[in-house]
Amino acid sequence: MGKVKKINIVFTIICLFVCFSNAKIFYTNGYSEEKKVALTFDDGPGKSTKRVLEILKEKDVKATFFMLGIRVKNDTEIAKKVIADGHEIGSHTYEHVNFYSYKFDDKISKMEREILQAKKIIKDKLGVDTYLMRFPYGYSKPVGLEVAQKQGYYVINWSFGMDWKNVSTQEMHIRYKQAIKNGAIFLMHDLPKNDKVLSFLGDFIDEVRAEGYEIVTVSELLKLKKLK
Ligand SMILES: [Zn+2]
Repeated sequence: MGKVKKINIVFTIICLFVCFSNAKIFYTNGYSEEKKVALTFDDGPGKSTKRVLEILKEKDVKATFFMLGIRVKNDTEIAKKVIADGHEIGSHTYEHVNFYSYKFDDKISKMEREILQAKKIIKDKLGVDTYLMRFPYGYSKPVGLEVAQKQGYYVINWSFGMDWKNVSTQEMHIRYKQAIKNGAIFLMHDLPKNDKVLSFLGDFIDEVRAEGYEIVTVSELLKLKKLK
């Protein structure tokens, strides 16, 4: 092999390595130049999923549901309804471990198990290959992103969310409205601590559209396809 050819090969390998290691896998927002937003629902399928689906259907909106493996296992039928209605499914891991406060030595392998268990149950019960995920509590330390990427996941957090907070419904509604911007990813829950957000979700969708925004799924907002 000639020297130049050898150098070219080495150079290509280095480029591939650099490109791969720089691949963006963590998002909190879509593109700032596009008038699009995404609605995301965490922790379900749960007690509010049915109501959320009714509102989304009425408004003809497709959303992204970050489901817990254990909830899919326990409430498979409603999870199937989410898919039948044409929504997108992401993983929220298996049973909502908080990796910010996880103190045991097996943190990395626990993360892997949480991701793999959720991936398997969503595939087995719903037939969906997930490639978008959100760690519980939006865990986004580099170690978590690395584990997620190795399992073929993009990690998606949010640009705004507060439906678990103890504020009035009116204030919550105002705050969500104020957070409308290009590429916004809104966090809500379909296994909520309270159901305040449900009382204005329909109006919120109308308001988002009235400001000229299109509501799309996360993969559409971020133009993402399956990693592997
Ligand atoms: Zn959660």
